[in-house]
Amino acid sequence: MSDIIYMDNAATTSLIPEVLEAMMPYLTDCFGSASTIYSIGRQAMDAVDEAREKVADLINARDPEEVYFTSCGSESDNWAIKGACEAYLKKGKHIITTAVEHHAVLDTFDYLKKRGWEITVLPTDNFGRVSPAQVAEAIRPDTVLVSVMHANNEIGTIMPVSEIGKVCAEKGVFFHVDAVQTAGHIKVDVRDINCSALSISAHKFHGPKGVGALYLKKGCICRKFLHGGAQEKNLRAGTHNVAGIVGLGKAAEIAKNEYPAEEIRLSALRDRLIKGISASIKECRLNGDPALRLPNNVNFIFKGIEGESIILFLDMKGICASSGSACTSGSLDPSHVLLAIGLEHEQAHGSLRLTLGRETTDEQIDTVLSELPPIIERLRQMSPLYN
Ligand SMILES: *Cc1c(COP(=O)(O)O)cnc(C)c1O
Repeated sequence: MSDIIYMDNAATTSLIPEVLEAMMPYLTDCFGSASTIYSIGRQAMDAVDEAREKVADLINARDPEEVYFTSCGSESDNWAIKGACEAYLKKGKHIITTAVEHHAVLDTFDYLKKRGWEITVLPTDNFGRVSPAQVAEAIRPDTVLVSVMHANNEIGTIMPVSEIGKVCAEKGVFFHVDAVQTAGHIKVDVRDINCSALSISAHKFHGPKGVGALYLKKGCICRKFLHGGAQEKNLRAGTHNVAGIVGLGKAAEIAKNEYPAEEIRLSALRDRLIKGISASIKECRLNGDPALRLPNNVNFIFKGIEGESIILFLDMKGICASSGSACTSGSLDPSHVLLAIGLEHEQAHGSLRLTLGRETTDEQIDTVLSELPPIIERLRQMSPLYN
């Protein structure tokens, strides 16, 4: 692991040793169910409640009771959207989102569309942003929900969610925010954003995989999504993933202390990487907003080559990166995000995403800056698309 240069932190992050240490007792001696009343059960419940406080603290929720534990960011997104649609069905059957959301949101919208909901998918500008005015215009008397991500997982663009939250509050519309890329990385303040619901996921900020949370503002309703036991105030059944939840809490606590400094450190590394790539490789372009972007996100397209092949060549140098194109059922579909910001299919295939993190060093940026240009050069020589 030590030799690997891991630059795919938007996909997942490493587990901080301190987080693992906090989780260990609940994987071993203290294995009791948090729903029981004997002592190892009560200890587990105390640990769950402490984690709830830490998560509430990270996102500045008024009350820890507004935090519900889930199995992942995708579940939080599904629950918020389907749950609000069911709860407010009497109001209408119209919902709004954007063209650059994560599939956990977009596919949920598609699911609802097939079941008779009318959906509006707002186009973005060339940086991947929607404006509060666009949202205001799209809202109708029968609009039940607006779902807009805080920052994009592919191109890093930060959305004006506080302004959109204001619009939704004025019009009395349920506002869901997918903050999976921002929680633990930049300021996420549910009071500032004025949202009804907000999704986060532990493994995106150095917590364990398989645990997330949904913030649900007091007074806002999401119908039950998982039926069964009475856990999570009878809204989300299932024996608590105590160790995972404790890990989420610990990761939230660490992130709250570290992100302000980390944001500054990573932004500088990001900018050096962007400048270096732009200066040393011709015919490339930065995707996403140059200024209003995640501190750890670098995303380029390179003319005439496939992103997938860049990933394979980087891997041979021990560098883990990602491409915008996702390989779905054997066919290479270009990223919906890159298409939404106006790229042609052919261009969208040539993208490279480097997402920095806690372990990223100055030396690693140097290594990438020296390894990448010859790879691009070589791939272009081999490419029939590039002349
Ligand atoms: C990773 C991610 C998700 C899904 O989270 P999981 O915990 O992996 O289910 C949702 N939205 C965004 C923006 C993401 O980056």
